[in-house]
Amino acid sequence: MTAVSQATDVRSQQLFAEAQKLIPGGVNSPVRAFRAVGGAPRFIARAEGPFVYDADGNQLVDYVLSYGPLVMGHAHPEVVAAIVAQAAKGTSYGAPTELETRLAELVVAAMPAVEMVRFVNSGTEATMSVLRLARAATGRAKIIKFDGGYHGHADFLLSKAGSGVATLGLPDSPGVPAAVAADTLTAPYNDADAVRRLTEEHPGQVAAVIVEPVAGNMGCVPPEPGFLEGLRTVCDDAGAMLVFDEVMTGWRCHPGGAQTLYGVKPDLVALGKVVGGGLPVGAYGGRSELMALVAPLGPMYQAGTLSGNPLAMAAGIATLTAFNRPGIWEQLDTTTARLAAGMKAAAAGAGVPYYTTRVGTMFCGFFTETPVTDYATAKTSDTAMFRRFFHAMLDRGVYLAPSQFETGFTSAAHDAAAVDRTLGAAAEAFAIAAQR
Ligand code: PLP
Repeated sequence: MTAVSQATDVRSQQLFAEAQKLIPGGVNSPVRAFRAVGGAPRFIARAEGPFVYDADGNQLVDYVLSYGPLVMGHAHPEVVAAIVAQAAKGTSYGAPTELETRLAELVVAAMPAVEMVRFVNSGTEATMSVLRLARAATGRAKIIKFDGGYHGHADFLLSKAGSGVATLGLPDSPGVPAAVAADTLTAPYNDADAVRRLTEEHPGQVAAVIVEPVAGNMGCVPPEPGFLEGLRTVCDDAGAMLVFDEVMTGWRCHPGGAQTLYGVKPDLVALGKVVGGGLPVGAYGGRSELMALVAPLGPMYQAGTLSGNPLAMAAGIATLTAFNRPGIWEQLDTTTARLAAGMKAAAAGAGVPYYTTRVGTMFCGFFTETPVTDYATAKTSDTAMFRRFFHAMLDRGVYLAPSQFETGFTSAAHDAAAVDRTLGAAAEAFAIAAQR
């Protein structure tokens, strides 16, 4: 199918100019700016199924999907109906609702390591809270994270972070007190031996190892065989909690998360994105005896005015209910496999070095011949080539994340026509990217 040529982004440019006067960088999250690729970000007017429509009326096949949550596609009719029906009954009560228990049931049924769950409002809150719990449970202060791993923007988690921090090439953020950063140790992804060495250098001090079980914020980098198992052993030996940050991987790499796909059971889990169906939800959970430390059951304080918000719970329930229907996962998996294989073939056809990764509905292509296993190898990508490719795809009606260091996502609304259109665009875009 012939790629669609984009008319104009004049209105987006106008809106961006206005936004920059009032909002830092014109965006409310740095990953949305086009800093790494240049130009004005597309301002989105509406979205449906696999498409976003920008302010100039361009229809774009969307592989950002709000950075992951929209696994059933934009404006899924059941999700919209659930939100509208709940809105008519009130948007927030500051009191418990049945909806929270129903969504908790869906989470506990999906994630083997989660016996009890607490809902919060974002992935950042989820990781912040779950690590407070790990510290409360162990009475220790230090956390180990991985280079290029992103766990939200809490002070102590910004060291060597991925996502926007990596895209913008920022050093660790100013504003983080040195004393706070000192309790965060970092290791290369896929290197369990490095983690062991850190636990040995700091005996009795490491509260938790937090890992994206499939890294998704330095591009998509799967765990090598034995890595997650190795972390489990190191944590057991060191008396530290193993925390899986499944904010991105939950319902994306497998319906039961990476903990099911790889058969490694963490002590604690952070969730977000898909669980809220596109509304602001995060969650954390784990074994009941650990969750019993959380207030009001236990002494570890964590709270939220809008936590468990009924609109958000309704969206999450509708999304997971639709997602759990027979055949949906298989369809998602097949679509993503076809897309990833097609992109790889298109790159090869244009003679472009392109190292591809895919786990479930997460996919990525790095403009390098070097196998990507960690942040150092991810950075071997030719980001200038990515930039040319990104714009050539956008010009042809395909919306990828504006950074080499992000993961692509598919949805159940991405049908064969959407994939065909993407691959048609890719064949031309790789040829353009190859021109220096
Ligand atoms: N953890 C992971 C793995 C993420 O990918 C993200 C966001 O991209 C977060 C945590 C933070 O989530 P939020 O942006 O909802 O605060």
